[in-house]
Amino acid sequence: MKTLPQISIIAPLYNESDSFPHLVERLNTLMDNLSLRIEVVLVDDGSRDNTPVLMRQLALLDDRYHCVFLSRNHGHQLALTAGIASARASEALFIIDGDLQDPPELLPDFYKELCDGNDVVYAVRRKRKENIVKKTAYYLFYRLLKSISYVEIPLDSGDFALISRRVADVLIQMPEESRYLRGMRSWVGFKQKGFEYERDERIAGESKYSFKLLFGLAYNGIFNFSEFPIKFMTRTGALSILISLIYFITVVIKKLFFTEVIEGFTALLFVVILFSGVQLLALGIIGEYVLRIFFQSKNRPLFIIKEEIVNRAYVGRDAV
Ligand code: UDP
Ligand code: MG
Repeated sequence: MKTLPQISIIAPLYNESDSFPHLVERLNTLMDNLSLRIEVVLVDDGSRDNTPVLMRQLALLDDRYHCVFLSRNHGHQLALTAGIASARASEALFIIDGDLQDPPELLPDFYKELCDGNDVVYAVRRKRKENIVKKTAYYLFYRLLKSISYVEIPLDSGDFALISRRVADVLIQMPEESRYLRGMRSWVGFKQKGFEYERDERIAGESKYSFKLLFGLAYNGIFNFSEFPIKFMTRTGALSILISLIYFITVVIKKLFFTEVIEGFTALLFVVILFSGVQLLALGIIGEYVLRIFFQSKNRPLFIIKEEIVNRAYVGRDAV
């Protein structure tokens, strides 16, 4: 029988050549000090810099590294998905960022929680070392999502987590195209546990998440895990019909029993503008859901792997 690694560490990399040496150094130290069989799955998400070259060199030197190269930039969530799908660990998958914002050294602590019977150990950020605008935006977003989502998504937790093999298998089976992994991970269920940590600053290079991309991710969180926007529109629609009916009735009563009604041109204009806005918003919200159905209905593969260098460390050594 072949021996599989017990743990796969998964790190997506997009133009991370500056942080790459630091990442490898920290991962090597970690692996050297643990008696677990670990493979590292590095996913190159279509980098335009030196990252793929560095990955190739590393995979040749050290067979604990398993390198996956995507055909183009697919985005963080899909790069992670490709990593999860390629990982061969028998026990657990450890998902980290490639820029060392998630300290890999926490693996033994997370692993202990997993051995204590948890299927998902997710990291909860106690402190963030990012700028105030980003911090506030994150803070507000997670609270909004929690209040409207139909899945219990824990506050302030990102993708940094240790997940059991069976949870990973479920995630791989979930074919949704617009992925919000931290939500999907909660949806899966089983025993989940939060683990507090301080999120470090990026070791080198710049964040690859622009505000536009962050909004995209936030949108996926909201529209994939909540029916609230649609329900909100239905309620607003119903309420506005009610208000206009009451208004209409009062005007009729006034006209019949009291004095002349003053021409309400301003009020009319206000109502027209307000409700055309409400209607456009409603259409936009429906559009968000339709868009997701549209993309999902194409049934395209989630990611395309161009090349894969599979390590031989465990499989090769004990193969009969
Ligand atoms: N990343 C990726 N594809 C992308 C954008 C980012 O694989 O299109 C990787 C990136 O290399 C990093 C991780 O995802 O390892 C998190 O990205 P980043 O640090 O830019 O996000 P932030 O920490 O600022 O939210
Ligand atoms: Mg980062």
